Amino acid sequence: MSRRFIARRSPIHGTGVFATAPIKKGEEIIQYRGTLMTHAEADAMYGDGGETGHTFLFTLNEDYIVDANRKGNTARWINHSCAPNCRAVIEESANGDRRKDKVIIEAIRPIKPGQELTYDYGITLDVPHTARLKKLWRCLCGAPNCTGTLLKSKRA
Ligand SMILES: [Zn+2]
Repeated sequence: MSRRFIARRSPIHGTGVFATAPIKKGEEIIQYRGTLMTHAEADAMYGDGGETGHTFLFTLNEDYIVDANRKGNTARWINHSCAPNCRAVIEESANGDRRKDKVIIEAIRPIKPGQELTYDYGITLDVPHTARLKKLWRCLCGAPNCTGTLLKSKRA
């Protein structure tokens, strides 16, 4: 599988990932890789996420988190956007082994070379989303519908 993207400086935030070739709607682009850890291990190592505006953690399922700080690949640089051109899909393993589940980033729109790849992180923290936290998790995606924060409102 030839690479159709490159990581470089992004106007949204830090490093981003950009298409280097046309990508079709529905195409799988990259697997979000990293070291598997339990939720308890992630909490012990990184806290509840309230003190950092940035994360390389991806919730795989109720049991596991993918930690892209360790053995992560280019997928960890894909930025959040409120009007994304990709989405993260969990591919559950056929035999029910939750450790074998995968996070796949796939295109939800046709993407042209040069365009930045983005998906909606859909983050909700275990702590109240205060104004300070919303600012810490500020979104600079520039989309007309940008909510200004990566944090999703918590509706029960
Ligand atoms: Zn935004």
